[in-house]
Amino acid sequence: MEQSPSLKKTLPNGFDRNICSQSSIFAASFINKLTQMDKSILAGRINKMSESATLKMTGLSRALREQGVDVITLSIGEPDFNTPQKVKDAAKEAIDANQTHYPPVPGLPELRQAIAGKLKRDNGLSYNASQIVVSNGAKQSIANVFMCILNKGDEVIVPAPYWVSYPEMVKMADGEPVFINAGIEENFKIKPRQIEAAITPKTKAVIFSSPSNPTGSIYSKTELEALAAVFKAHPDVLIISDEIYELIIFSGRHESIASFEEVKEQVVVVNGVSKGFAMTGWRIGYIAAPQVIADACNKIRGQYTSGASSISQMAAIEALNASPEESNDLIEMVSAFKQRRDLLIRLVKEIPGFKTNTPEGAFYLFPDISDYFGKTNGKTTISNSNDLCLYLLDEAHVALVPGEAFGAPGCIRISYATSVDKIETAVNRIAEACKNLK
Ligand code: PMP
Ligand code: GLU
Repeated sequence: MEQSPSLKKTLPNGFDRNICSQSSIFAASFINKLTQMDKSILAGRINKMSESATLKMTGLSRALREQGVDVITLSIGEPDFNTPQKVKDAAKEAIDANQTHYPPVPGLPELRQAIAGKLKRDNGLSYNASQIVVSNGAKQSIANVFMCILNKGDEVIVPAPYWVSYPEMVKMADGEPVFINAGIEENFKIKPRQIEAAITPKTKAVIFSSPSNPTGSIYSKTELEALAAVFKAHPDVLIISDEIYELIIFSGRHESIASFEEVKEQVVVVNGVSKGFAMTGWRIGYIAAPQVIADACNKIRGQYTSGASSISQMAAIEALNASPEESNDLIEMVSAFKQRRDLLIRLVKEIPGFKTNTPEGAFYLFPDISDYFGKTNGKTTISNSNDLCLYLLDEAHVALVPGEAFGAPGCIRISYATSVDKIETAVNRIAEACKNLK
């Protein structure tokens, strides 16, 4: 049977073309129609949303690597460590015990209990298991909250530099991100008076991460207390506290804004197992929230996704039931990150025009590179951090993420979740390529 040209195009290599049935020909003509459709089919909310810059740069570097180019990827934020063996074993046992059915929508009771226990043990926070909702990663947890609280035109205050997905998630839920800024001189941390000035009658929430992606900055207990004092005067403003990097800190203790009783009822704590347990692919995140928000997120999940993977949830129970203080895997990982951070800062400081501070957590350095704006190698002129990242990908074969994506156009994000050797080679290459910009 003769196939339509479009089907030939869409069939992968090695596919046995003779087994094509009438129905697959029909399916192919349907696919053909879909591929001919233009973007007018898409909803406005998709058109106003940007692609994730972290994932885009990582995709570009993967594509170059597939073409045989030796690219060093410092664009993705995920630990290069393996999931601890005990956690993997728990998942294997879950499969053998046939834990393979739909789990309850807000999470397995044992996992919600383990999360409540973790919040008490590590953060001194009291939550009932009913206030905890497990999702497919912290990313989805945050998106759920915005879907639950935002009406058209509601504002969410987003301190910049921010994680790439916050403003896009707000827009997806028909809200308006309102930005306030802090530069490298302030260690990228906003002041309480900036929050106070940004609050309007339309403000529904504020979202920030500490430790921060992309800056690695951490709000101290005193700084959080000062922010809490502002929020106390605005009890209708929800504080979305993204604590996904909680376990990756290089000194002191992690503090949650939820520990201030005067605002606890306003806080949604967001966390997950991706970073601290090197479990990015398992896709388990969660919120601990006022009951009304938890119930709403549960309702959304019931219609959108059902529960998160039952096997991953069993693995997450194993991860969260152990105290981080006794986890050798975590201690080794954090000590490796600290060593790499120190190395990276030392090397980057030697590149003329790169201004850095000292991040206290996560695994990112966020240097100010605005000195390069207006410089050229004769072929390419650098007008912004996006240009510099593309130039460095092209000339140095190092993938980084432009600061524009994080609301800080003078900076670039370097992830040091990779080996010391790769860090050294990458920074040498960056330095060489930058020498040619005059
Ligand atoms: N918040 C921040 C600040 C992050 O960097 C990430 C990493 N992707 C997430 C949330 C989402 O994490 P995940 O969905 O992997 O749990
Ligand atoms: N949080 C990581 C990053 O910022 C993972 C990629 C993503 O989900 O954006 O690189």
